[in-house]
Amino acid sequence: MTVNNPYDVDAIVVGAGFGGMYMMHILTKHGYSAQGIERASDVGGTWYWNRYPGCQCDVESMEYSYQFDDDLQQKWEWTKRYAGQAEILKYANHVADEFKLRRHFMFNTSVDGATYDDDREIWSVSTDTGKTITARFLIMATGCLSTTNIPDFPGMSDFKGDTYHTGNWPKEGVDFSGKKVAVIGTGSSGIQAIPPIAQQAGELTVFQRTAAYSIPAQNRPLTDEKQNSIKANYDEFRARGAMSPAAFGADFAFNMGSVLDATPEERQATFEEFWNYGGFNFLASFGDLSSSLEANEFACEFVRGKIREIVKDPATAEMLMPDTVLGCKRLCSDDGYYETFNSPHVHLVDVSEHPIERLNDKGLVTNGTEYKFDIIVFATGYDALTGSILKCNIVGSKGLALKDKWAAGPSNYLGLMTTGFPNMFTITGPGSPSALANLITGIEQHAEFITTLIKWSDAKGHTTIQADQLQEDQWIETVNTRASHTLYPTCNSWYLGANVPGKPRVFMPYVGFPDYSKKLKQVVADDYAEFTFA
Ligand code: NAP
Repeated sequence: MTVNNPYDVDAIVVGAGFGGMYMMHILTKHGYSAQGIERASDVGGTWYWNRYPGCQCDVESMEYSYQFDDDLQQKWEWTKRYAGQAEILKYANHVADEFKLRRHFMFNTSVDGATYDDDREIWSVSTDTGKTITARFLIMATGCLSTTNIPDFPGMSDFKGDTYHTGNWPKEGVDFSGKKVAVIGTGSSGIQAIPPIAQQAGELTVFQRTAAYSIPAQNRPLTDEKQNSIKANYDEFRARGAMSPAAFGADFAFNMGSVLDATPEERQATFEEFWNYGGFNFLASFGDLSSSLEANEFACEFVRGKIREIVKDPATAEMLMPDTVLGCKRLCSDDGYYETFNSPHVHLVDVSEHPIERLNDKGLVTNGTEYKFDIIVFATGYDALTGSILKCNIVGSKGLALKDKWAAGPSNYLGLMTTGFPNMFTITGPGSPSALANLITGIEQHAEFITTLIKWSDAKGHTTIQADQLQEDQWIETVNTRASHTLYPTCNSWYLGANVPGKPRVFMPYVGFPDYSKKLKQVVADDYAEFTFA
């Protein structure tokens, strides 16, 4: 703690996921004192909580990793093309050990309030353990997908069996052997969890409200040869990744051609090639899939054809075929998802027209039918991007509550600072590429930007940094305009907040990592002229 200062530490960092860990490392490396606060018992963030079976990252491990320390990226050995949760959590723990990060954090502690004192120019943060800590800077590294969303079904507390949410999975795991299990939700988490749960369960019933597009991950062991060749030129590999629209895909051949210019044979062959390549990159099989409905429909029809081929029962196949825009909700990747429905003990119930009415002591009721279960798994997603920030009850300058300021949707400048909340930063916040890009790359970019900005401001003798209202308004317009050139606003996704009842419908992420990077560089080159300092 800093001595002779009217505050406890220079900065409070909320969260010990990849964002909070790196923020803490870089701040302390530059001589700032900082206190981290983390609700979990250890580091890892999303990878600490998401221990559901089948959980793995959909960005390749050689890219979903830190690049700030060459020794770290050279020495760490990934075992798979896409790392699973356990391996990523091991990596997070390794980073915490190597850089001695745990000593800066209080674990098992949640922030329950953060208030800015205009006179003293300090943030005062209170916790559920009764502590109050003061700091010049408040840095929210609370993650994009960390506040779970469980629908408020009537009768929730009546159910006598066990319930779990994929994003809050017990450390000791769940034994599904021989059990009658329900999974509600078929987004990325449900689609990953369903195949391994089916392998154990006596009977599995999946409740699907919206069919999702999923591409086989084609996961496989990472060969030494592949790993070593990337490590031999890791900087170039990272630089290529950062030039990609979502900050990953360094070695990936994006096809910029239009699907509309291709012959039927070329289309089929290209989609087949990208399907076999696997995962999220299927969206890049043609250059216009994310911007033209007509083009997108070709990709949709290809995936529907695959579902028809894989799923033996035509009625089940029909139910699994999405009729939405491919990639509008986040494209899922899987290991044997559609195949799972060929097992006689796996059932699919469409709740799109007849929603789940209620839970009762034995299970749940939909369309007047009672289904009995031992276990219900909620794979029902998150109050994304804003949920974890707003939960902290942040009150800024002149008593302005963040929840009031963001009542119509989050507004900020660069996704980093919001006017009226001096010296408060959000890492990978709404308004930045956030969940539309490789999050570790985005985290490093933000943590480095924030540190450089604080150092610059301190060197000039300023005590406060603020986002300017005009810049903020223009930034939000830019974020909306960029989204309007894509197909993202055409469905009820969590990118829009549409999955949480009552949440304002605003497209939150900035589309296009390379342009965002250029903007940040320009802001630095212009000596942060668009910020307000005092
Ligand atoms: P999600 O994409 O929001 O999916 C939630 C699912 O629950 C949807 O199918 C949704 O249906 C359903 N649902 C919600 N409320 C319901 C209700 N009342 N009745 C029936 N169904 C309901 O959440 P997620 O699967 O946890 O994924 C969230 C994000 O986390 C992903 O998009 C991805 O960015 C990230 N993630 C990544 C990975 C990976 O790296 N591979 C893995 C897991 C998660 P509707 O579609 O109709 O709303």
